[in-house]
Amino acid sequence: MKKILKNNDIVLTGEYLGVVEEYLPDKNSTFIKDGAIFATKTGLVNLDIEKRKIEIKTHQEEDRKTVKVGDTVIGSILFIRKYSVGLNFYTINKKVHFNSYFFGNVHVSQISNKYVEQIEDAFQVTDIIRAKVVEEKENEYDLTTSGKNLGVIHADCSICGTALEKIAFNKLRCSTCGNIESRKLAHDYGEINEHLRY
Ligand SMILES: [Zn+2]
Repeated sequence: MKKILKNNDIVLTGEYLGVVEEYLPDKNSTFIKDGAIFATKTGLVNLDIEKRKIEIKTHQEEDRKTVKVGDTVIGSILFIRKYSVGLNFYTINKKVHFNSYFFGNVHVSQISNKYVEQIEDAFQVTDIIRAKVVEEKENEYDLTTSGKNLGVIHADCSICGTALEKIAFNKLRCSTCGNIESRKLAHDYGEINEHLRY
């Protein structure tokens, strides 16, 4: 009896997947013999219904490609440009991806629902922020930190490096040198788990 494959079905190396009339086989994970398609590795079925494409992916590969619009990510600010900040992120929807990182940008208009005049009033290099993916662009992602739960979740004093403490709405103070800084803070600033710091 013919088995109809669904997305995320587990198949074994050498397992019959279908015929070339049904699917467009993927070169890297399938092979064709006499018009029939077989898996060249054990993994999860990935069907592209529109293109009729069949592909076998391993769990790890699947993990790395799961950045989608609407995902929540955690990353650290790498640099500040005039109208945006760049960051790398390893954490997607609370899962930490140690083997690869993704690159994202937050445009000044996406920082807050309030007007942000200077990016430096919202973010500094090395801040850890929680953001949401709004658009996918090749290998980069456009992110937003507009929203109560989004924004900076950890920041160090730009003078002495001590972790800053929240003293008021979007205001932080260094307990070591007394420096006061502003940020676009997430509501749970300072409450993040240690394992999210990298
Ligand atoms: Zn300080």
